[in-house]
Amino acid sequence: MIQKDLHQYPLVWRKDDFFIKIYSSIPNVSTGILLTTSKTTFIIDPGDGILRDLTQDVGAETILRVSDIFISHGHHDHVGGVWSLLTYLSVLRRRLPLSIYFPKGCVEIKSIYNAFKKVYGKELSYQINLKPIESEKQFTRNSVRIKPFKVNHREINPDGTTSEVPSLGYKFFYDSKSICYGGDTAYCDNLVKMAKGSDLAIIEAGAHDESSSDLHMTIEQATAIGKTAKEFFLVHVPL
Ligand SMILES: [Zn+2]
Repeated sequence: MIQKDLHQYPLVWRKDDFFIKIYSSIPNVSTGILLTTSKTTFIIDPGDGILRDLTQDVGAETILRVSDIFISHGHHDHVGGVWSLLTYLSVLRRRLPLSIYFPKGCVEIKSIYNAFKKVYGKELSYQINLKPIESEKQFTRNSVRIKPFKVNHREINPDGTTSEVPSLGYKFFYDSKSICYGGDTAYCDNLVKMAKGSDLAIIEAGAHDESSSDLHMTIEQATAIGKTAKEFFLVHVPL
């Protein structure tokens, strides 16, 4: 199953009370994903527009329930909404602590957090826990088991060479179901392994054409991986 229009959002998947909604996933523009169960409210890759999308769709009550944010990597289309989300939660006088998981070495999240604390630290109504991830060890949050896994994403330097970006995918397990989110990645064995047998795989197909790239996957590569899951979405397809 490939969704008919690769630029049509939101994408929604639900099995009983395991639910995920992808509001957007456009390279260089924005990503934004909500994952919920009856006991859990997570946000994945809050890019620009996430606060608008969540406000329109689920409202303040649900946004206040978000316990954990998962960041695949620090590129702006995946973290551009963090600042406004953090501010919004403080304006609403949130009390619950908030954890932000991100690949160790992701300088963007650290920088956003440090700047945010500097501006709002004194009046902040809630605790922010930064959780850099450096291993692929699983952990559980509010009934959902999370397995982070390393993927292979690179960025182009001004001189045309590429360098590695600290990047993770996440597999979420709940009630004998699993959702695999690969983040941004070139074709890599780790994603192949993690996507296989998932109830839903969310696979990026961000390459600009069908020639092989060490930055993103082609539609053909992403589809081949997606087909090893029970269902899949192709995301992050360039406009
Ligand atoms: Zn991206």
